[in-house]
Amino acid sequence: MTAYDPNNIFAKILRGEMPATKVYEDDVALAFMDIMPRADGHVLVIPKAPARNLMDIDPGVLSALIQRVQKVAKAAVAGMGAEGASIQQFNESAGGQIVFHIHFHILPRWTGVPLRPPGQMGDKAAIAAHAEMIKAALG
Ligand code: AMP
Repeated sequence: MTAYDPNNIFAKILRGEMPATKVYEDDVALAFMDIMPRADGHVLVIPKAPARNLMDIDPGVLSALIQRVQKVAKAAVAGMGAEGASIQQFNESAGGQIVFHIHFHILPRWTGVPLRPPGQMGDKAAIAAHAEMIKAALG
């Protein structure tokens, strides 16, 4: 498998070289809003430790990371007033991965509301408002 590239966009966000609308951060993980949300409240959760995807991440980091995914998913559902959530994670181009720093998508869901198509930039004000709702639920 290709080696981890420290110049991927999420590594730049972790280093503060690129902006992000952050909703949660601790020693293990960072959660921030997806700029092309496929659902209202679409959040990404990434580890601070470098890993390309599920194939190379340290199992101990993965174990800690999934606990953060659960924490943020619960807050995204509660904060957004959603009925459920889809959790997505893609591996390599063939698996749908575009950014090669492992990340979990948290997509709040409502019955009968389909996901929007990928690749459409979201409304900045709406994304900021949804981030505040999720942060409020995180306490
Ligand atoms: P994938 O690797 O297929 O899981 O897709 C990468 C995801 O990252 C997509 O949902 C993009 O909308 C999202 N994305 C790409 N660049 C940024 C960025 N600078 N800030 C937030 N989300 C991003």
